[in-house]
Amino acid sequence: MSNLKVCKFGGTSMATADSIKAIKKVIDSEESRRYVVVSAPGKRFSGDAKITDMLYDCFAKKDDARAFDTVFAKIKARYDEIIKGLGADIDFADEYEHIAETIKSSKTADYAASRGEYLGAKLVAAYFGWQFVDAAELVKFNDDGSFNDEKTNDATRSTLSQYDRAVIPGFYGADFDGDIVVFSRGGSDISGAIVARAVRADVYENWTDVNGFLMVDPRIVKDPKHIKALSYRELRELSYMGANVLHSESIFPVRREGIPINIRNTFEPEHEGTMILPEPPENHGTITGIAGKKGFTTITVEKSMMNNEVGFVRRILSIIEHYGICFEHIPSGIDTFCIVISNSELEGKLDGILDEIARVVKPDHIETHSGIALIATVGHGMAYKIGTSARLFKALSDAGVNVRMIDQGSSELNIIVGVGESDYEKAIKAIYDEFVNE
Ligand code: ASP
Repeated sequence: MSNLKVCKFGGTSMATADSIKAIKKVIDSEESRRYVVVSAPGKRFSGDAKITDMLYDCFAKKDDARAFDTVFAKIKARYDEIIKGLGADIDFADEYEHIAETIKSSKTADYAASRGEYLGAKLVAAYFGWQFVDAAELVKFNDDGSFNDEKTNDATRSTLSQYDRAVIPGFYGADFDGDIVVFSRGGSDISGAIVARAVRADVYENWTDVNGFLMVDPRIVKDPKHIKALSYRELRELSYMGANVLHSESIFPVRREGIPINIRNTFEPEHEGTMILPEPPENHGTITGIAGKKGFTTITVEKSMMNNEVGFVRRILSIIEHYGICFEHIPSGIDTFCIVISNSELEGKLDGILDEIARVVKPDHIETHSGIALIATVGHGMAYKIGTSARLFKALSDAGVNVRMIDQGSSELNIIVGVGESDYEKAIKAIYDEFVNE
């Protein structure tokens, strides 16, 4: 059977006529690249606006005709500039008119947000001379807004089986009434994975503007080591913790079929990129990567003999649940229990939560610390390797970093430490220097 590849191109690859020409080169260079999923045109230079952001802005201004027209004119100009640069025979005049009218009568921002991908895919399909397939026909959402993976897979598989080659817009789908629904930002990565699963691709190529994953954020460490290969699980840990090359949910559709993801660079297509594989690659080092985020708060509850009190933890977690909050970690000791929550989840709710905890579990002491950064050191290579955490903590202490929280999952796939935000960069550098050369 011949090789089949699904290729998703991100916003920078879609930003200009030249970058779309680069996409065409990539596609033309391999016969197996037969399904293309695209993002909306992104930034052409730093400080530029993404089409998706402008579309959200249009929705926000839909009741103010002049303000709306000003932003919408900029969107049209961006597409017209690309069409002209490609010398393509495309006229979007009717599309623009219909889109502007529909945004004005929409109840939610989703339809507006989705049009960047819609027009982008139409444009690429016309330029390639390929079939355009609307994601609204493929990607299905339930009435409550949740993603329906089985209906999506069935619809995508049967529709795409009719076309040998197709261009599909990323980021959105539709509910069963036909109303457009979008994924969270960056969601075209998920769309690409959905298509890869449906057509049973051999590889899901995700084309972006970097050469794949680096061991650590290059804004913190200069020229960090490139990661050639990592596992699905390592990817989840790293992308969830802020390594934002790929949307952290894009793994789920391809995982079901065991399809590898290859991150590639549209602007340096000869670079092999990063492979993301179902199983850990052979010959990996002790750690694969380090990622982290600032902006967490810890709530530590102390009560003597807490460990003997049946239901203690459940009562605290019910309070958190009652406030509709997702927590990150719950490291605990014998008489202490700590919850780590991101500041954005806690906004305006902390005092209420503390009062409730005090009332329900009558602790001896409650303490909160804001300004916490979490750092995940990730790698299958740590499993069964004696001394890894000792080395990590020694590196942190040598760098003068005070560790405020530790959480090591029993999978031994990662060690998470909480440090003060002012120590964040220093801590990441120290861990990287300790492990980079193996
Ligand atoms: N265009 C959308 C965004 O800016 C989705 C995507 O690019 O994946 O988030």
